[in-house]
Amino acid sequence: MIEIKSKREIELMEEASRITALAHKAIEEAIRPGITTWELDKIAEDVIRKNGGRPAQKGFPSEQRGIPDFPATICASVNDEVIHGIPSKYVKLKEGDIISIDMVTEKNGFHGDAARTYIVGKTSKEAKRLVEITKQAFFEGIKYAKKGNRLGDICYAIGNFVKENGYSVVKEFQGHGIGRSMHEDPGIPNYGKPGRGVRLQPGMTLAIEPMVIMGKPDILMLDDGWTIVTEDESLAAHYENTILITEKEPKILTII
Ligand code: MG
Repeated sequence: MIEIKSKREIELMEEASRITALAHKAIEEAIRPGITTWELDKIAEDVIRKNGGRPAQKGFPSEQRGIPDFPATICASVNDEVIHGIPSKYVKLKEGDIISIDMVTEKNGFHGDAARTYIVGKTSKEAKRLVEITKQAFFEGIKYAKKGNRLGDICYAIGNFVKENGYSVVKEFQGHGIGRSMHEDPGIPNYGKPGRGVRLQPGMTLAIEPMVIMGKPDILMLDDGWTIVTEDESLAAHYENTILITEKEPKILTII
């Protein structure tokens, strides 16, 4: 069932999302060659806690038996890592790396979720283009995030844009509704058919998140039970915001 948020609930979503945006700003300012993903994790956690939030990904349970809960505030996925990379004192960023940071803040029972792929120093033209197209895919998708449209309109717009630009979308993971839970209905794949799926209504809050691979779409999970990498070792990028469907244009809650 898709929750339609009340005015008060939307205010709480805005607050959680604002904190996620602040934490991303702090990370963007801190990213440089030589910094570890563990240090970035602390920076994000600090901002979230100082603003009265809780890092909602920390302690998130794995669906697999024997795999520990997610141990950190941010997912930090470098280069051919797509999503769910675990921050580490041993992963030092290098000039030219790209790093996808995904995080969720919970405050007063509501969640705000956003991901960005950052460039470390200067990178190749090819990597830069991947990052830009991934971000643009989100904006292509939300052109259709309007009252009365179907969810499939968004999914199709994202997938089609990525394909037209010569890249692959990840099919095994998807965007999602968000609110009291980090993941709510509906699931929002980065591909689909226009005119299909649920009809969009004001008060729906959705996390829309293109995950894009430069090469083939196949992915693998590392032995840590979390990190998803590209099978062909090509680069991957991620861009996500929590949005609100309104009477008119969608409101992006995690951009401030
Ligand atoms: Mg996310």
